[in-house]
Amino acid sequence: MRLVIVFILNLPFTLTGIIPVILSGPYHVKLVRNPYAFVFKIKSFWWAFGFFKKARAITIGQIILLGPRLLKNDLEHEIIHVEQCDRYPVIFPILYLYERIRKGYRQNRFEDEAYTLSNSVYEEVNNK
Ligand SMILES: [Zn+2]
Repeated sequence: MRLVIVFILNLPFTLTGIIPVILSGPYHVKLVRNPYAFVFKIKSFWWAFGFFKKARAITIGQIILLGPRLLKNDLEHEIIHVEQCDRYPVIFPILYLYERIRKGYRQNRFEDEAYTLSNSVYEEVNNK
C-alpha cells in the first residue's frame, strides 16, 4: 500500500521526467523493480544545463535516463536516487536542491549515499 501512495505522490515528478526523455532521443526502455523505475537509454543530454550539464545519467521521480557516457554502476547509483525519492515523497527534489546548494555536488548527502552504496565512479568534471 505504501508503494502505491508513494507512486502517486511522486507522479508529478515521474510525469515531468517524460519531457527530458522525449528530448534526449530514447532508444531503449526497461522496467526495474525494487524500487520500480523506468530506465531509458538515451542518445544525448544536449539540452542539459547547470547541475546536469556533465551528467552521465539523470533521475527524475521514477524515471532514469542513462546517457552515452555511462561508467561502472551508474544505473545502481541512479536507483539509489529513486529510493531516496521514495523515502521522501514530494519533498525529495527540494531536499536535494537544498543539499546541492549548501554542500555542492559530491558532498551532498544524497550523492554521498548514492556513490558510497553503488560504488559508482566520481569524476571531478561533474562538479563544475
Ligand atoms: Zn547522483
